[in-house]
Amino acid sequence: MDNKYLIIGHSVEDIRNDNELLIIKKINEAFQNDPQLCRCRLCVEDIYALSLNYLPARYKQSLTLATLHGEKGWQIEDARIEEAVRSAIEQVKKRPHH
Ligand SMILES: [Zn+2]
Repeated sequence: MDNKYLIIGHSVEDIRNDNELLIIKKINEAFQNDPQLCRCRLCVEDIYALSLNYLPARYKQSLTLATLHGEKGWQIEDARIEEAVRSAIEQVKKRPHH
């Protein structure tokens, strides 16, 4: 398979933004709590992308548990994740791309 995520032979495709899983969890909760939300793929992808863009990215390398800024620096309060997801959902509700 063609892996475009290569830097001088090292794969960087496993380096994830720390916010991804937190946001996915929060969006799933939002869908559970709001049966009116459109469940089409475009809306789900829009909500996810907008939520991620709302917060500063937190990429981290996969091989060690140590982080560049210490454990505290990577922790993001639940409230900020919540706010990002809520504003993304409002935006998609107002102007859906489907
Ligand atoms: Zn939709």
